[in-house]
Amino acid sequence: MRTMRGRFAPSPTGEIHLGNAWTALLAWLQVRAAGGTMVLRIEDLDPDRSRLEYGEKLMADLKWLGLDWDEGPDIGGNYAPYCQAERRGLYQAALEKLAAAGLVYPCYCTRAELAASAPHGGENERVYTGICRRRKLDDVRQVSRQPALRLAVPPGETSFLDLHAGFLSQDINREVGDFIVRRSDGIHAYQLAVVVDDADMSITHVLRGDDLLSSTPRQVLLYRLLGLKAPVFTHVPLLIDQTGHRLSKRQQALSIAALRERGVKAESIIGYLAWKAGLLEQCQQVKASELIAGFALDKLPSGQLI
Ligand code: GLU
Repeated sequence: MRTMRGRFAPSPTGEIHLGNAWTALLAWLQVRAAGGTMVLRIEDLDPDRSRLEYGEKLMADLKWLGLDWDEGPDIGGNYAPYCQAERRGLYQAALEKLAAAGLVYPCYCTRAELAASAPHGGENERVYTGICRRRKLDDVRQVSRQPALRLAVPPGETSFLDLHAGFLSQDINREVGDFIVRRSDGIHAYQLAVVVDDADMSITHVLRGDDLLSSTPRQVLLYRLLGLKAPVFTHVPLLIDQTGHRLSKRQQALSIAALRERGVKAESIIGYLAWKAGLLEQCQQVKASELIAGFALDKLPSGQLI
């Protein structure tokens, strides 16, 4: 049997908060409980939103919480993470493979055109109706902007089994439409990059927040079209606040750095999260490493967690 390989894949777009620590802890425990290998990948594809300093801070926060990783070049006793910004060549190669199979086309639609033409699909996303589908990749229009590149989604259902959410199936054409694989500014789409990276890093298990559940059929389809093996997915409920909103990077007070500055111990944060995950009977201080032996996904409550 292959050794389990999991990953943290944070975007360096803000300080990590309790909600990120929650998914990071569970991903880490899933891998550690199986004696597997953990990888850290900084998802800094988008240069406008990513900041180096956030990448450095999130590494420090993960370490402080006791959540370590096992690979990467040695940088003074630490492993350097993989960074998406340095891996664009791999995403482009995958894109070219899809293009060679006739599955990619240019789309010149503006936001306004999309909004006017598109019905709402699942999760309130706009469905792309395929306005540009007949265009060829070498179709160069007399417009100043570069086209986005879209995947011509084949007909049919895309299904997968999620270890927490169960069996899921989606008709991507009906609920999403042909989705973007490279943006008009030349940046490869998250959907493509995450598939290429997880396959290239031989990730066997992806545990992440269920806000990404609706993206997963698109990723499963890309694995299939690229001839790659999809990992086993586990989408866990997100932590929400008292008003029912998911915790976000905007809630500075709940950032790990702010909690730490206020004197909250790493063991208290881990203990709180472990209690929410059904791994502790009561909220108490504990080290992440002390939870490995008793970790089981089926202790995780279903539904949203305050
Ligand atoms: N980079 C994404 C985020 O921070 C996570 C992507 C993933 O886990 O697939 O939300």
